[in-house]
Amino acid sequence: MKKITIAIDGFSSTGKSTLAKQLANHLGYVYVDSGAMYRAVTLFAMQNGYIGTDFFDKQTLINSLPYIKLHFQFNPDLGFAEMYLNDVNVEKEIRTIEVSNFVSKVAEVSEVRSKLVEQQQEMGKKRGIVMDGRDIGTVVFPDAELKIFMNASPETRARRRYDELQSKGQNVTFEAILKNVEERDHIDTHRDDSPLLKADDAIEMDNSALTREEQFEVVLELVLKVTKSL
Ligand code: C5P
Repeated sequence: MKKITIAIDGFSSTGKSTLAKQLANHLGYVYVDSGAMYRAVTLFAMQNGYIGTDFFDKQTLINSLPYIKLHFQFNPDLGFAEMYLNDVNVEKEIRTIEVSNFVSKVAEVSEVRSKLVEQQQEMGKKRGIVMDGRDIGTVVFPDAELKIFMNASPETRARRRYDELQSKGQNVTFEAILKNVEERDHIDTHRDDSPLLKADDAIEMDNSALTREEQFEVVLELVLKVTKSL
């Protein structure tokens, strides 16, 4: 069967990565979590003291971009590729609430976006890829054969993220997560460069009332329909 490009965009904590991983495993495609790349750049900025609660030295981060090397490495035990920053596995560090609180500010920087988009487009050259993010169907792969735009209410999304972080032993309140989800939504949809928006040809899915399995079945049907029509 011919391999296609699948772009999954949407608001934070809508289950994009869960769906993308399910599809990639089932179809034998490569899965790329583009948010992990923005998170890794944010971690770099935090480690080097370029960003904090009340400051962001944007220019120094821009000047440092050539020294930021990102790559994914497949972990067979976990069944997905983990994020490496300058050859160090940062998969755990990039998921903290601190990184979540700063990442949307870093993702507003055009120089950061163009570096990451170029790398993402390179990864997708051979097709057979599922990538999730905010600008995949609009900017990274505007010619993707299948585009999904996911949504769910902020409370549903915050509850999911809260349960996930609790299960990983991170001590955070539901209110702090909800605040973070709403703030990121605002910044992501209002930034000048590549704001989060649904591509005209994307299929919108509100999954507030769907189980993971139901959602997977619906999207898999779409993939099969598209691949057969090629
Ligand atoms: O997907 P995730 O929630 O991990 O993404 C973290 C942040 O990275 C988002 O809130 C957004 O600010 C940024 N991002 C982006 N473009 C992408 C993926 C993520 O701006 N393609």
